[in-house]
Amino acid sequence: MTPPASSTALPDLDRAGLRVVAFGGLGEIGRNMTVLEYRGRLLVIDCGVLFPEEHQPGIDVILPDFTWIRDRLDRVAAIVLTHGHEDHIGGVPYLLRERPSIPVVGSRLTLAFVKAKLEEFRIRPNTIEVEAGRRIDLDTFDCEFVAVNHSIPDGLAVAVRTDAGMLLHTGDFKMDQFPLDGRITDLRAFARLGEEGVALFLTDSTNAEVPGFTTSERELTPAIETVFRTAPKRIIVSSFASHVHRIQQVLDAAQASGRKVAFVGRSMVRNMGIARDLGYLTIPDGLVVDLKQLDRLPDRRVTLICTGSQGEPMAALARMANRDHMVRVGEGDTVLLASSLIPGNESAIYRLINGLSRLGANVVHTGNAKVHVSGHASAGELVYCYNIVKPANVMPVHGEWRHLQANAALAERTGVPHDRILVGEDGMVVDLVAGRASIVGKVPAQHIYVDGQTVGGATEASLADRRTLAQEGAVTVVGIVELRTGRLAEDLDFIVHGFTQDPSDFHDVTPAVRTTLRKAGPLTQEDAEGIVRDTVSRWINKRFRRTPLVIPVVVEE
Ligand SMILES: [Zn+2]
Repeated sequence: MTPPASSTALPDLDRAGLRVVAFGGLGEIGRNMTVLEYRGRLLVIDCGVLFPEEHQPGIDVILPDFTWIRDRLDRVAAIVLTHGHEDHIGGVPYLLRERPSIPVVGSRLTLAFVKAKLEEFRIRPNTIEVEAGRRIDLDTFDCEFVAVNHSIPDGLAVAVRTDAGMLLHTGDFKMDQFPLDGRITDLRAFARLGEEGVALFLTDSTNAEVPGFTTSERELTPAIETVFRTAPKRIIVSSFASHVHRIQQVLDAAQASGRKVAFVGRSMVRNMGIARDLGYLTIPDGLVVDLKQLDRLPDRRVTLICTGSQGEPMAALARMANRDHMVRVGEGDTVLLASSLIPGNESAIYRLINGLSRLGANVVHTGNAKVHVSGHASAGELVYCYNIVKPANVMPVHGEWRHLQANAALAERTGVPHDRILVGEDGMVVDLVAGRASIVGKVPAQHIYVDGQTVGGATEASLADRRTLAQEGAVTVVGIVELRTGRLAEDLDFIVHGFTQDPSDFHDVTPAVRTTLRKAGPLTQEDAEGIVRDTVSRWINKRFRRTPLVIPVVVEE
């Protein structure tokens, strides 16, 4: 959890300086957003969401804090998207809602995914499609795009040339040398930019702790084929709705084993339609059918592909595990979780695996078969990059603290001086002036919670209340008080929720409340409620060793 960021006054930016503000993705996996400022203009690189954890009940997604940029929206030249993952594009609708005309720049697939998302918000974005190798001016920003390989096709790194030096941002990437689409991370471009001089290198830290090299996607093929060869009944595959290549492997295995496939779930159906239409996914004729048509086929000819591999409670797979979905998982079915275990989701995923196992399914996952590889560069790949790029300054991005520190240590081992490696958390502001980068301050970078239709309504305090409610229950205390004198007119009334004591057990607290109110009078209603809450909370804590949420209701006599 990000501590509330106290912002500091920022120094004036040098006229020829480049300012880098990290709004997300530092100290957390998700809501990646970096803003560059150069000659009075701003460039947003990615604008993603963070998914809530179990200690954030009722929250749909978490956005970057737009406080700082909100006053400067007219200066935003463009939003550059490195790739189409939710933690890089999920916040775009919320930013565009504030100024819809900001151009959105990205590769073909990335823009297609973001446009589909924006349609749901009824926003028609102004887009600029770019491809690897392209160099364009976005206002004051001279941008060049470089192909990178990741767990979604069409990823781009971005280089920005300024008078302060060149910035190179990898986006999310890995260096699979045999990717399914043959599009490798363009190290030759990295080397060329390195020769020219990279002043500030922002690199993906997600897998910096993992030694060696990330295994090629191709090496998963045998394990996936084995599942398809040996599964006696239906196969239900769960993956991210954006992992086009993994789904291609599943489609190929299904075709080879004579099975039909149906996509289940809105985002999966939508994204695979987009990927097919744009030529990123090849679907043999007749392979993919409607979910309803699968009913007529024997189980051993059925494959379902759905989302929910992270245990998200509303996704198709969790609902299947809870018997709350039209697809009934049963004895002999095989469930293939072809995805990672994202930090924070562990318990939800194991609950899902247990739920499916209980129904009789054989669950194949990354813990018992080689059915997943990461989309991020491991330590070995990062070291190669440092040695090829030879950056003057490094800023590890995309990771929790341990990932950022591990990445910093790798940079240092390749010879980047310790004081040229900038590790910090969300809100960090870095100025690059004449080739030298330094941390100059901090802007607000709180978690902004999206809760149903409201953005920013739920706060850290309301989440703390929700946790207390869930864990300790609640006690509502009703008192009739003469505010002028602080006299309690009747005994307190108690209504108890999710707390094991009987309301009558609480009557012993009344004398203490009566005395405290009397001493404090005259009172406002707020004062009286505060006294009731504090006195009752302390008393319950002492008597029962519990801390339920105490809700005071004071009625004036
Ligand atoms: Zn990604």
